[in-house]
Amino acid sequence: MNLEHTYASSFPELATPAVPEIPAATTVLWINEDLAAELELDATWLAGADGLRWLTGGDEKTTALAYSGHQFGHLSPVLGDGRAHLIGELPTSEKRVDIHLKGSGITPYSRPGSDGKAPLSAVWREAVIGEALHALGVPTSRALAVLETGETVRRRSPLPEPAGILVRVADSHLRVGTFQYAHMNVGSDQRIELAGYALSRHYPQVNPGDNPALILLRLVAEHQAHLVAQWMGLGFVHGVLNTDNVSISGQAIDFGPCAFIDGFSDEAVFSSIDRGGRYAYRNQPGITQWNLARFAESLLDLIDPEQPDRAVHLATDLLEHFEETYEDARTRVFAAKLGIAVEGAAGAPYERLVAFIDRTLDMLDEHTLDFTGFFRALTDTPDHLVELLPNSETLKSWLADLATLRQDTGTAPGRAEELMQGANPVYIPRNLHLEAALRAVESGDTAPILRLLGAVRQPFTRHSGLEDLETAPARSRFFTSFCGT
Ligand code: AMP
Ligand code: MG
Repeated sequence: MNLEHTYASSFPELATPAVPEIPAATTVLWINEDLAAELELDATWLAGADGLRWLTGGDEKTTALAYSGHQFGHLSPVLGDGRAHLIGELPTSEKRVDIHLKGSGITPYSRPGSDGKAPLSAVWREAVIGEALHALGVPTSRALAVLETGETVRRRSPLPEPAGILVRVADSHLRVGTFQYAHMNVGSDQRIELAGYALSRHYPQVNPGDNPALILLRLVAEHQAHLVAQWMGLGFVHGVLNTDNVSISGQAIDFGPCAFIDGFSDEAVFSSIDRGGRYAYRNQPGITQWNLARFAESLLDLIDPEQPDRAVHLATDLLEHFEETYEDARTRVFAAKLGIAVEGAAGAPYERLVAFIDRTLDMLDEHTLDFTGFFRALTDTPDHLVELLPNSETLKSWLADLATLRQDTGTAPGRAEELMQGANPVYIPRNLHLEAALRAVESGDTAPILRLLGAVRQPFTRHSGLEDLETAPARSRFFTSFCGT
């Protein structure tokens, strides 16, 4: 089955020919059958020798993508795929997606001394988080397959660990960093074409009009606002919100040291190298807006080539609007978690709802309550919530105010229940469960990771025999994950 290469052929300056390095011993450890079916691919065929060849590039014109990136605030003008390859684009009846490898060897963009490889545990981590986010309704890149290469890499410990390759599917691999790179390296005609390409691929229903760059900025800002609001509602911390990890399609992409928070702190940060907490939970909306400002800068001369002031004015207006879009999206996300019908909350009740959400998060933070567990208990056993805090009065008055808010927004009990059932998961990939499953993977045992994957793919339905995955082991508060992926 041939893939297409519209991006690489339209923008050769942005996609450099590069051949993945697939060791002869490479085997398929896991095929994502659900995703394969969505993409109209035969999972059994994918798992065989021909499938493996297809997944890893076969005769395709594979490339490494060029992009820049503000990493922790500092611009790296040339970043690019240093250990990843774009295999090609798969047109399905619904949309065109990229098939992409990560951990597939060095490329022209690899930094000197880097190995181009990925530890198998990091590959599984990205696969599990992607499936969990997807099942939770968050737009995200997903793993189509997990491959083991038979090689080893050294990362966090001096001991070698098995290496793997992630076969990733995303709506595209266009990032904010792609436009930053294009701004520095490509002429404006090509960049207008690039904006048009992004629009037709990700926002085909929108008329690009006579200012495609401005429209693209607006759409990306809107989609990013909704994406971050969804993360916030799940207690999810992406971990490395550099501009190269912010997708133009609005999907979550390139999560490395990411995690779902157990005991809530709005300063939660999981990356061992993020010492300043730049990408902490509470900073995610602000940093996304900052990243969007970098996106805007890379488009200004396209937005208005003649009047730079006007371009700045138009872009600034849009970026200011981001805050409003985000706040509204966040309010809707948390209203559902609290069992409040937001449609009924116009005017004063809306203001009270917003204040109540803040108060809820302050309470979770003050008492380090389990984020996912709290909202699920509210869904299943609200009467037992008072037992969570030493002083039951705090929760009693919180519950009473919640009841009043439901009443004032006309939220019937059945509707409240329905909203909460669809917004408050039973299962998330909790840090220590995921870590334990990843350690098992390193010693060749995939049973725990497949069990966890099974749970997080049906996050809202309780299954008997998976009780241990519902709660956080006690040490979870001190969890850190590492960037050495
Ligand atoms: P990421 O953390 O995956 O977003 O990667 C940031 C940048 O570092 C990208 O340019 C990657 O291609 C590059 N990179 C990360 N890990 C490796 C590696 N093991 N070998 C080569 N390049 C890498
Ligand atoms: Mg990246």
